[in-house]
Amino acid sequence: MQTPLDFTKKAKDDLSVDFFDEKACRMAVLKMIHKEGPRCPRCDKAITSERGIVNFYELKRVFCKHCKKIFTALTGTVLNGMQIDLRTLYLLAVFLALKIERKEIARMLKIHTETVRLWEFKFKAFEGLDDMTVKSHFHDLQ
Ligand SMILES: [Zn+2]
Repeated sequence: MQTPLDFTKKAKDDLSVDFFDEKACRMAVLKMIHKEGPRCPRCDKAITSERGIVNFYELKRVFCKHCKKIFTALTGTVLNGMQIDLRTLYLLAVFLALKIERKEIARMLKIHTETVRLWEFKFKAFEGLDDMTVKSHFHDLQ
């Protein structure tokens, strides 16, 4: 018969990124970095078309009818060009906040321990920001 201790350890060992809903995690991150909803990173006009909004939150390309820019929800944000998906990123933030060991986080999220360490520093850097957009990167977006 299993003891309760074995059960909790086994439960913890079985936990992985796959237990978490991709959409829920993605939406949580996108709502955090876009508090005012979908906007064009170039002209700052709100995206109002139904298709534009859907595409925005699905990380697909969005077309701005005002300035004709094509972009995604990550364009012009500090998360642009990152190598991990938003679910992994979200859980990484949660697990770090819960003070879980880097090695355990890496195992659960199926990423390298070094990636966890790197993001730990990035999140610390984000703490000083008013928002997650990077105006200085705009020259790359034209
Ligand atoms: Zn625009």
